[in-house]
Amino acid sequence: MKEIPLWYWLAVFFALGACVGSFYNVIVYRMPRGISLINPPSHCPLCKKRIPIRYNLPIVGWLWLRGKSACCHQPISVIYPIGEALCGLLGALALFAAVAVSHGSVVPALFAAPVVDPAVWAFALGLFWLLLGAYPVCAVDCKYKLIPDSISVGGVVAGLLISLIPGGITPMASLLGAVVAGGGLYLVGWVATKVLKKEAMGFGDVKLLAGYGALMGLTGAVETLVVAAVLGIVVMVPYSKMAAGKGDGSGQIPFGPFLAVAAPFMYLWGDTLFELYVKLVFGE
Ligand SMILES: [Zn+2]
Repeated sequence: MKEIPLWYWLAVFFALGACVGSFYNVIVYRMPRGISLINPPSHCPLCKKRIPIRYNLPIVGWLWLRGKSACCHQPISVIYPIGEALCGLLGALALFAAVAVSHGSVVPALFAAPVVDPAVWAFALGLFWLLLGAYPVCAVDCKYKLIPDSISVGGVVAGLLISLIPGGITPMASLLGAVVAGGGLYLVGWVATKVLKKEAMGFGDVKLLAGYGALMGLTGAVETLVVAAVLGIVVMVPYSKMAAGKGDGSGQIPFGPFLAVAAPFMYLWGDTLFELYVKLVFGE
């Protein structure tokens, strides 16, 4: 592993991201139709025939068949390979950004060099999770007003596992981040519910922030919360004014997407932003 160059690992991360994208395609198709994710195995939605595994390969399968199903030659939407390619790019971006951040610059020679620092791997895996997890949080929270446990609780598990890699955040910092960030937001929600006398914060948001705490540490999670709240206010004020005319509660915006969008940015630039803020406020 010490000799394998960066460009190869970028291809691996792209492939991993594309596989995640392919899985998202399955979820998007099956969940609303109430079909289990594992059973029955991949089949053609039109003629119900089994799809052989080679045609199920992300992006490649679609190109191989030139956008038509192998069984009944019906067109397959180009949305599927595009979604897979976008997820693949996000996957490769996670590793690329991790390398760029740790080196402070990107020179062509870097692509041929191996990635030896375990801290870079820890950072890349965390960013991979944040970038690819953002999409299901946004989609599911907007549509169903809930956040999938696989991403929120899964984030706590992923964060704790990644913290075992030396060089990144320590397991103690990861655990502390999860407990304090999640617990803190729970407390805020509890107080707000008492004061406003209506549900102010979903438990899904609490679990999601706990996951971010485990992945980024407490500081990163707090920065994510602050930026998400600011974003939320900027978007929500004009939107709720628009929806207020209807008076049917349709103006309620889920908070999860704001957290999910803010998280990868704060993971990358939270410290820089915080320093800038301190400089602005205290002039030092
Ligand atoms: Zn078919």
